[in-house]
Amino acid sequence: MAGASVKVAVRVRPFSARESSRQAKCVIQMRGNTTCITNPKLPKEATKHFTFDYSYWSHTSEEDPNFASQRRVYQDIGEEMLAHAFEGYNVCILAYGQTGAGKSYTMMGRQEPGQRGIIPQLCEDLFARVAREGSPELSFSVEVSYLEIYCERVRDLLNPKSRGGLRVREHPLLGPYVQDLSRLAVASFADIADLMDSGNKARTVAATNMNETSSRSHAVFTIVFSQRRQDPLSDLTTEKVSRISLVDLAGSERADASGAKGIRLKVSRDPLRPPKKRGRPPRPHLSLTPPPQEGANINKSLTTLGKVISALAEAVSLGVTPSPHPPSGGPGDFWGDPPTLPRPQQSSKKKKADFIPYRDSVLTWLLKENLGGNSRTAMIAALSPADSSYEETLSTLRYADRTKQIRCHAVINEDPNA
Ligand code: ADP
Ligand code: MG
Repeated sequence: MAGASVKVAVRVRPFSARESSRQAKCVIQMRGNTTCITNPKLPKEATKHFTFDYSYWSHTSEEDPNFASQRRVYQDIGEEMLAHAFEGYNVCILAYGQTGAGKSYTMMGRQEPGQRGIIPQLCEDLFARVAREGSPELSFSVEVSYLEIYCERVRDLLNPKSRGGLRVREHPLLGPYVQDLSRLAVASFADIADLMDSGNKARTVAATNMNETSSRSHAVFTIVFSQRRQDPLSDLTTEKVSRISLVDLAGSERADASGAKGIRLKVSRDPLRPPKKRGRPPRPHLSLTPPPQEGANINKSLTTLGKVISALAEAVSLGVTPSPHPPSGGPGDFWGDPPTLPRPQQSSKKKKADFIPYRDSVLTWLLKENLGGNSRTAMIAALSPADSSYEETLSTLRYADRTKQIRCHAVINEDPNA
């Protein structure tokens, strides 16, 4: 079986107040599932076209018949992924795009009616279906975790005491996991909504304390969903477990491999020159200073995600099936193991397929199964409509276009005699 492709959608938001006040022009057009982008500096240049599974026009408002609401996005993508989770598959939805393009709005949304994003709508539907289908023979359990990856460090958003730096380890059978991450059992949508709120608050508090980390961090909301069926005649029990990973990625504008965008111009006084008591103040001098605590790791997870996606897309074009289970030295500590893997003599096609650099970052290592492995996966790329964001938006469209080529090989995670 060739496997199912990653579903890819793009979504364009309304102008922000700032863009409107600067008379921004919209460079995006959509027709059916095709998205077109026009270069504002070269309007005569041919418009570039991209086709996706879905192109969501959310630039206008409900009155526009082409407008894609939060509900619509959920019905197309969230409902399908939830149905797969009930079938017993792992599922994953990733939101990609430049800061401010609408990732968090699409994933979490706002509390007001009609503004809730995919995550709360999916959780609500999940519990509605559990209530309808639960019976003495069929029972369900739902557990939730919520983490943030910032500068390659993992922080537990559901544990107020977590200061980050949780270890990522590998279980010989279950794969990579985060040691000591809270996994809380929830019995209702209200429970899960409370956890989501406190996790989102933890994210915001950290953001204000640390230079708006939320645009530089990845948030991963995971639901572990188990269905246990007991056959009354044979008394045999089977269990299906699916992992639902809902990921709000860091702003893609920082994914520049040079890292130059992570370094900001900072005006500072020369520390070696004491301030003069009188007369003119010393002239500030310019220096290039990386923001505190953000070294070369700032975009490691996002750049590695790009490399993983390119490598997977290339493997597909070569007609080989990459394995998310590369040869490794057994259970290990992510940080203890060098990321280099033994590479036995292989054909060059096979070599390429096996060398998907999952291990090079925390994000790709944790999402290994969701990227080309045992998962049904969707990506939503958020687009800014404004002419001023043309370059970033074009690069987001190209990224989404590459992601379309990836195929995943999902299997139902069923364990008879559980
Ligand atoms: P990101 O998470 O990509 O940085 P946000 O989701 O926070 O961006 O969106 C930036 C701003 O734009 C927020 O105020 C958000 O509410 C608004 N916004 C984003 N997408 C939409 C949309 N489709 N409709 C209405 N407002 C949106
Ligand atoms: Mg955001």
